[in-house]
Amino acid sequence: MTSVKELCVASNSANNAPQPPEIIEVEELVVACDGGGGALGHPRVFLTLDNGRAECGYCDRLFILKAGVKVARSH
Ligand SMILES: [Zn+2]
Repeated sequence: MTSVKELCVASNSANNAPQPPEIIEVEELVVACDGGGGALGHPRVFLTLDNGRAECGYCDRLFILKAGVKVARSH
């Protein structure tokens, strides 16, 4: 007889929970993302960081400007 307790342990949340978006630190305001290839791959797109961050619309990766990086602002 299988107890309810054992069933709860077996259904580990790691299998069901959506993966948190990957956070990538970059040193430039424009980054290219192609999803890293494989199952998550997508056509390469260029993202421009806004306020030090940009999110890829394809794979939900979050790009953030690495702390301490100075970016030349265009006039
Ligand atoms: Zn992407």
